[in-house]
Amino acid sequence: MDAERTESALPDPMEQLEREQARWRELDALLRRLLSRLTYAAEGRNASLDGVLGGIRMATRNPLDEQRIQPLLDALTDAVATLDEDASRPVPAPLAEVAPAPALAPPAAAEPPLDRLLLAILDRLPLGDPVDPELEALRGRIVGCRDAAMLQVHGEALAALVARRLEQLEEAQRSASRLLSHVDDELSALTVHLDQDDQSRNDVVAARRELGERMAGEVQALGERARSAPDLVSLQADVQARLAAVGAHLAALREREQLREQAWREHAARMRERIRELESSTRTMEATLQQKLQLADTDPLTGLANRRALEVRMALLCEADAPVTSLLILDIDHFKTINDRLGHAAGDRALRIVAEQLQAALRPGDYLARYGGEEFVALLAADAGEAMRVAERLRIRIGQARFHSQDQVVPITLSCGIATVRADDTPDSVFERADQALYRAKSNGRNRCEAA
Ligand code: GH3
Ligand code: MG
Ligand code: MG
Repeated sequence: MDAERTESALPDPMEQLEREQARWRELDALLRRLLSRLTYAAEGRNASLDGVLGGIRMATRNPLDEQRIQPLLDALTDAVATLDEDASRPVPAPLAEVAPAPALAPPAAAEPPLDRLLLAILDRLPLGDPVDPELEALRGRIVGCRDAAMLQVHGEALAALVARRLEQLEEAQRSASRLLSHVDDELSALTVHLDQDDQSRNDVVAARRELGERMAGEVQALGERARSAPDLVSLQADVQARLAAVGAHLAALREREQLREQAWREHAARMRERIRELESSTRTMEATLQQKLQLADTDPLTGLANRRALEVRMALLCEADAPVTSLLILDIDHFKTINDRLGHAAGDRALRIVAEQLQAALRPGDYLARYGGEEFVALLAADAGEAMRVAERLRIRIGQARFHSQDQVVPITLSCGIATVRADDTPDSVFERADQALYRAKSNGRNRCEAA
């Protein structure tokens, strides 16, 4: 509240010091002029005093220097002592006659204004807190003093005091400059530290803004306190307190950052764990799905593609850019008899063996499916001639396979119908032609291959 009240009324500390210094210089000049006038006022008492007064006037042309003044003061004291000794004697006529008038008025006539002038100067000097005892003592000596010579001495004391105060103010100014420079360095260091800190954090923008605002607040408060500070000592104490507050803000920010970083790490760890779990369950789901899809497309008895998968594959058979393809329908001959003679389980085993033999005889790019029952379909990247050669190879292989059941060799043969895809074909038309060819193979005695 104090700072707010005095903010508009008081300048900043440097300005204040400079103004004080100018004021003291003005007073110094004023005192020297006053001293000069006093010397004129006191002249004409005796030659010795006049000589001293002339010396004082010379000295007052420049800023007062104690080393030069001290001898003059001693001489003046001696001259005044001589004057006091002569005070009882009447003023010699020649001296009275040479006394200048009206500029060099008799001392008695000059005493009241000089007295008031010195007191006015004293009143303009800041007394300080606590009150400067030297100034107080000087005031006491001036008040009621009617002796021009003594007033001159008091004026000199006042001038010396003003000069000393000037030195003190200059020292205070230098000290304030050092202090403000120190404050500036501290704030710069904090800013640099913050800048370095910020580079390593993505989420520090808001925190920096917050600290920046706090620091700006501290600096503003510092400025306000600097303007309102009664003296340098309290200003220094206040600056240190403000710096400590800024340091505390920074420490709090670091703590928050560490907590946030820790929380972020934990969160990141949880996220990583969750992602691992998700990846794992995704892999499991993919595998399960793949398995289900595969099962949906797979014949459980033989492990070959089933009819559903075959139909999907056959849908691509007649695409414009599909390679030349031949379709084979392979049907085991008299399979019903095998089932009837050896049992259904033996029939299943026979189906698996036939599937293995067919698969083993085909090339990697060929496609084999169990169409149903004891019928298999092969799709070959082959023209009619190549398809017939492959079909014959398959037929012979199955015929040569030795299927044993109930300690006897069971002969197995198959018949094959072949159709090669034509430009105007559909999947059904191709299949139909192959089926007709198979029918012919059956009709022509089985264990044979027929092309459409
Ligand atoms: P053809 O030479 O004219 O083809 O005579 P076939 O006996 O092979 O043909 P048919 O269609 O008369 O009989 C097929 C038999 O295949 C009937 C059925 O019991 C049997 N079968 C179908 N699917 C399975 C199966 O999954 N396992 C077993 N063991 N037998 C099956
Ligand atoms: Mg059949
Ligand atoms: Mg059959």
